[in-house]
Amino acid sequence: MSFQFYNSKSGKKEPFLPKDPNRVKIYSCGPTVYNFAHLGNIRSFLFVDILRRALLSEGYVLDQSMNITDIDDKIINASIEKKLSVEEITAPWTKSFFEDLESLNIQKLEHYPKATESIEDMVDLVHRLQNNGLVYEKDGSLYYSIQKFKGYGELSKIDVAGMKSGVRNDADEYEKDDVRDFVLWKNQKSDGEKSWDTDLGKGRPGWHLECSAMIRKVYGSGVDIHTGGIDLLFPHHENEHAQSQGAYPEEEFVTTWLHCEHLLVEGEKMSKSKGNFFTLRDILEKGYDKKQIRYLLISSHYRSKLNFSLAKLEEAKQTLERIQTTLFRVLEVLDYVYEKPAAVNIQTLKTKIENQKIVQALNEFETGFCDDLNLPKSLGSMFEFIKEINQSYDKNLWTGNDHLELVYYFLFVDSLLGVLSFEKEMQALSSEEENEINRLVEERGLAKKNKNFARADEIRNILSSRGIQLLDTKEGITQWKKVQ
Ligand code: AMP
Ligand code: ZN
Repeated sequence: MSFQFYNSKSGKKEPFLPKDPNRVKIYSCGPTVYNFAHLGNIRSFLFVDILRRALLSEGYVLDQSMNITDIDDKIINASIEKKLSVEEITAPWTKSFFEDLESLNIQKLEHYPKATESIEDMVDLVHRLQNNGLVYEKDGSLYYSIQKFKGYGELSKIDVAGMKSGVRNDADEYEKDDVRDFVLWKNQKSDGEKSWDTDLGKGRPGWHLECSAMIRKVYGSGVDIHTGGIDLLFPHHENEHAQSQGAYPEEEFVTTWLHCEHLLVEGEKMSKSKGNFFTLRDILEKGYDKKQIRYLLISSHYRSKLNFSLAKLEEAKQTLERIQTTLFRVLEVLDYVYEKPAAVNIQTLKTKIENQKIVQALNEFETGFCDDLNLPKSLGSMFEFIKEINQSYDKNLWTGNDHLELVYYFLFVDSLLGVLSFEKEMQALSSEEENEINRLVEERGLAKKNKNFARADEIRNILSSRGIQLLDTKEGITQWKKVQ
């Protein structure tokens, strides 16, 4: 199926047509490693994971990077304040970033370039910009003259009317109403500051230069897709665009720009500076599990704001249980522990499904995410199908290969979601729980006898949400099993 993406640059949805489907180049702005990532940052990393998994499921071969910003204003300040080297500041946070990715079942990308290992590439880029007449020097630092670049503002649609010629911005981060020349190379201001002795002078790169240079370093060209949080659109991505396009005017820097909306807390962007953040560890320590967190953060559309709350995490748990209980029901009928293959070939899976209902459900799931990664649309179709799966099991309508094909359906779904379990995990029940289940099963039997089907269904749902599967035998006896 073909993809459509909402390109921030054109402001509309466009068909996705990578230059080479066997090497789709994708670059994502990664973490600044001076602290734990918070759940907002993690939302943007999970968005990259969904993009990856979606493209893989449609057969693209990916060459993907996420950079590690291991030098910027915040890191320098932390290093001066704590009297530690930049490496001592960044090493533990880089490690915790990778641990977070692993905890949340985020797939490994092909490259994780580090800014501090790409200084030569940054120097080269500045030389090109100098040759193209876009750079000037002031007090030993080098600045990009935005008025000299025709396309400035093109990406973020920033109002360039207030753009001030020759007025500079030294900070890595600044606001929209502060459109000024930005720094490419900052000269060293004090001995304690980390610096590199290059032919641009003794100093360090501006943050925006880092990403432009790392893209060039990894790909030797521009990329098909560039992603980041929406807060990066201006100035970071606008400046990247100005640098890369200014250095290589004959090439297209980025074909599709994708921006992920913010995670909010009580209506405000979750951010380190506001102090309104949770790290993954904070949430795990409160007893929530990784799958719940992953599910919550991927289940709304990446271009919608998402308000984070602990209540939403609870809801995510229940929703996940609904999916998992249905999957266990299928696995139970197969009556063996289905070993999930280490690397599921999604393309082959699709061809193995013959039951037209399952084929259609899978098509609907795909149609959702192929439309600008509309995972909520995919999930909506999945919940409809789950209802149908359960109803058909209640009526013994699935036969023959259907059970296995249903497992294939869930394997496909989980190639995106990354949260389901394909191994049965039996948990012992306490005698109180057993008594309570027996009582409900008995009450359901009576309700059915009295044609009170609403109550009977209600009881089935209560039990199913606890992972209890009912089997009504021909003899009129109801057996039950714990399937989760
Ligand atoms: P940083 O570590 O601050 O450089 O940010 C890493 C990534 O997280 C960037 O793509 C940011 O745009 C993104 N980000 C930061 N805060 C949030 C948030 N509250 N919601 C979603 N993404 C965010
Ligand atoms: Zn970046």
